[in-house]
Amino acid sequence: MKCPFCTHPESKVVDSRLSKDKEMIRRRRECLGCKKRFTTSERAEEALPLVVKKDGRRETFNRLKILNGLKKACEKRPISVNLLEKIVNRIEHHFVEKGEREVKSTEVGEKVMEELHRLDGVAYVRFASVYRQFKDIQEFMDELKDLLGNKEEASKKK
Ligand SMILES: [Zn+2]
Repeated sequence: MKCPFCTHPESKVVDSRLSKDKEMIRRRRECLGCKKRFTTSERAEEALPLVVKKDGRRETFNRLKILNGLKKACEKRPISVNLLEKIVNRIEHHFVEKGEREVKSTEVGEKVMEELHRLDGVAYVRFASVYRQFKDIQEFMDELKDLLGNKEEASKKK
């Protein structure tokens, strides 16, 4: 996104807002060259960042991949596909609003886990065990203990 004042190629996003129909996104940007601010408007679907994998390869943001991961994690759970689609939408909007050009695949994974955690404990553990590729069973048990511990604390708060 070139600066309209000095044509510097780099700018940082200071604010992002989705339009009411969630199809367009307006961004306030600050030029890294001259520091002036300007507004851009993009189609929301084109505003998704590239996903940087652990080995450095870039992939386009793939909502189907996220949805399939969620479906697998929620197999035989009382959760509708409709609800999973909503979660994918929420994850997409999160990254659109962040306004970064690239995002680490681990960051996407963490966001998915956060959503699953809120939705369903069993699905969360399933997803976490695959996604985090636990090195050994101990690591997995620790994670599980953390999760259950957090849950207890959460229910105490209620
Ligand atoms: Zn500039």
